[in-house]
Amino acid sequence: MSKPLPDTPLLDQLESGPWPSFVTGLKRLAKDKDMMADLLSQLETSYKTKKGYWKGGTVGVFGYGGGVIPRFTELKDENDKPLFPAAAEFHTLRIQPPAGMHYTTAILRKMCDVWEEHGSGLIAFHGQSGDIMFQGATTADVQPAFDKLNEMGFDMGGAGPAVRTSMSCVGAARCEQSCYDEARALRTVVNTFLDDMHRPALPYKFKFKFSGCPNDCVNSIQRSDMAVIGTWRDNIQTDDALGKAWFAKHGAKELVNDVISRCPTRAITLVDTKDVSPAEGISSVALNDSQSLEISNHDCVRCMHCVNVMTGALAPGKDKGVTILIGGKSVLKIGATMGTVVIPFMKLESDEDYERLLEIAQNTIDFFAENALEHERTGEMIERVGLVNFLEGIGVDIDPNMIVHPRTNPYVRMDTWDEEVEKTNERKAKAA
Ligand code: SF4
Repeated sequence: MSKPLPDTPLLDQLESGPWPSFVTGLKRLAKDKDMMADLLSQLETSYKTKKGYWKGGTVGVFGYGGGVIPRFTELKDENDKPLFPAAAEFHTLRIQPPAGMHYTTAILRKMCDVWEEHGSGLIAFHGQSGDIMFQGATTADVQPAFDKLNEMGFDMGGAGPAVRTSMSCVGAARCEQSCYDEARALRTVVNTFLDDMHRPALPYKFKFKFSGCPNDCVNSIQRSDMAVIGTWRDNIQTDDALGKAWFAKHGAKELVNDVISRCPTRAITLVDTKDVSPAEGISSVALNDSQSLEISNHDCVRCMHCVNVMTGALAPGKDKGVTILIGGKSVLKIGATMGTVVIPFMKLESDEDYERLLEIAQNTIDFFAENALEHERTGEMIERVGLVNFLEGIGVDIDPNMIVHPRTNPYVRMDTWDEEVEKTNERKAKAA
């Protein structure tokens, strides 16, 4: 280390709060790296002037069309020399994490070693894009750093108008709510569309995300063009012993205020056990020797709230599968958009099921590539061309369950609805 730590009065204030500060981390790295000392200086300048000073450029590795985010400093002196030369180039490598983000400590140590040798030492697990962000490399160090990470079995993530790095929740390895093999689904999809990730050729970005249950821990419904979310289609499973233990610990107040009244479709009722024997489609869990909780599974929209509060006493059903939603994204032209259900339920277990998943994904990407405008996400494209045309384009039949919002009113009947419409029309015609 040759450079002393720069004076950073504005950044120092960010260390004064109760939470750990990124500034403390940058200062720690700056003790060994001039690059980080100069980064602190550039950042302090930005805080003073309220301006950003990074510009892009073209930096990459052999055989890939994306994955490196180039950053060159714009802070120059009168001779056009960088004011803070050690941080004049501060590129980021986007590296794909393993499915479910499982690492061994040995791998994490090796990653740190690579980045101490070829970069700033600053790594973000994980960026908003889902990648491991290796931040701060010079142009010359990008290729050797990537080669070493690649030898460890890691590949470059997506950037630009391409299929982007995918994410799956921690999944079945550590979560009892998991409804399918998220890691297999992620690997199958990513391996199939790797070309579209490494060679950007789409109108705009396209993201896949995989959540094992409707808790949607990777926010796939908001943050991906194609969200695959685990669900079930039979009855919620129950465990009487755990139900009684839960009730003994939490009591009636919590049961009423935090479970029954928070069910969005009013599907839960408290019953005297001796008065009823559960009918078909009803899940029943004992609370004590005389009272039970009953759930009407026809009215349940699988929001997971009761299952989360009474974990173990209540659990997802046995007939598990996935729901596929298309078109989620953050604010752009038409505002933040949640994904629309295009496949209400499909099993995802056999090889044929996975082929069907890939077929839906391929058809969606093909339709997107042919029909989206430049810089337009799938959700915006669907809004423009219409859901019916999109569904026709990807070869999926229209179904009343294709919804943009789960129903919150349990008094909706879909059987014999066409006869009812005819009757209403006749009544109107007579009245006219
Ligand atoms: Fe209601 Fe179903 Fe949500 Fe439970 S999972 S709170 S029953 S909608």
